[in-house]
Amino acid sequence: MRRVIVLGSTGSIGVNALDVVSRFSDDFKVVALSVNSNVTLLEKQIKKFRPESVCVVNESAAEKVKSKVRKYKGEEGLCRMVRDTKADILVMGIVGSSALLPLLNAIPRVKRIALANKEALVMAGDIIMEMAERNGTEILPVDSEHSAIFQCLAPGDRNEKCIKNIYLTGSGGPLLKVPRSKFRDITPTQAVNHPKWKMGRKISVDSATMMNKGLEVIEAHHLFGLGVDKISVVIHPETIVHSMVEFIDGSTLAQMGTCDMRTPIQYALTYPLRKASSVKGIAFSEVKTLNFYKPDLKKFPCLEIAYGAAGSGRTYPCVLNASNEIAVAEFLKGKIKFTGIPKVIEKVLGAHKGVGSPGLEDILESDEWARRKTKEILSVINY
Ligand code: MN
Repeated sequence: MRRVIVLGSTGSIGVNALDVVSRFSDDFKVVALSVNSNVTLLEKQIKKFRPESVCVVNESAAEKVKSKVRKYKGEEGLCRMVRDTKADILVMGIVGSSALLPLLNAIPRVKRIALANKEALVMAGDIIMEMAERNGTEILPVDSEHSAIFQCLAPGDRNEKCIKNIYLTGSGGPLLKVPRSKFRDITPTQAVNHPKWKMGRKISVDSATMMNKGLEVIEAHHLFGLGVDKISVVIHPETIVHSMVEFIDGSTLAQMGTCDMRTPIQYALTYPLRKASSVKGIAFSEVKTLNFYKPDLKKFPCLEIAYGAAGSGRTYPCVLNASNEIAVAEFLKGKIKFTGIPKVIEKVLGAHKGVGSPGLEDILESDEWARRKTKEILSVINY
């Protein structure tokens, strides 16, 4: 019986993770849950899974928890709960940079992290991977593309020398067929309306700008120890191939499946075993064709900006991420145009003086600086 912590339990990853766990009640026991503020759903999850501890990050929402369970609150409380709870696996379903500190607290204390969050790796991938290596903690990807790559790599293939290239596939998001001339007037409702995946609002906007693929390139660089020159993005509107690996011998492996996050979540929990699931396979005779083509970088400048930040290394990816988080939040509030997102990020990156081999302090400082700088620019220029 493995003890599991689920952070972000009321978000789309968390809900799917609990659904998977509930099907394997002989193998997994939920010992702790965390939410941002959705106490109503948390109470239902407490009744069903009987965790030992819960944390509500939003402090005023935390007061509303009535169930008898050990309670934590706030960002500080979340890290404390992770340190206090004996567990084997932590499912990281928190979106954005707020996953970083709980993740760093978890790595020395659990055997495995099922990692759905990409922003923490973009900010501090070197620190995270080094800490995991030192502690013998497995970091298994839940992000569908990275799970696909992981599934394509036999243990002996997890070596930069065997891999010629990896192809991260992307559906192209909700704006694939919308002409660039209409981009200025894209509304938040249009941007979050993803054709293939049902996800949270932040990642849905990232998919619309294709910054999501850019962040995933950096995520793959850290997870698989590959230079970004070996990581390509390919548009695949059918979203059946979740990513591919081309090896040096000319062989290419792809992982395919329907768009259901329970597949990568379950694999990260049960690996190296495969277990039965209710997720349906692909009806190939109904699919008929699979298309692949190059992304349009003029239409989706965020992808190129992300490659640039990845190439610059140092604290640039961290600044990219922080500036993007602020820009997306401002867009969702209706404060800036859709086309303002890449413009402000590019300006912030241009103003940044990168710190080499950054420690955690440097990362946190650059993150704060980038948030401040983004807001400052947005208060002066009307994007
Ligand atoms: Mn993904």
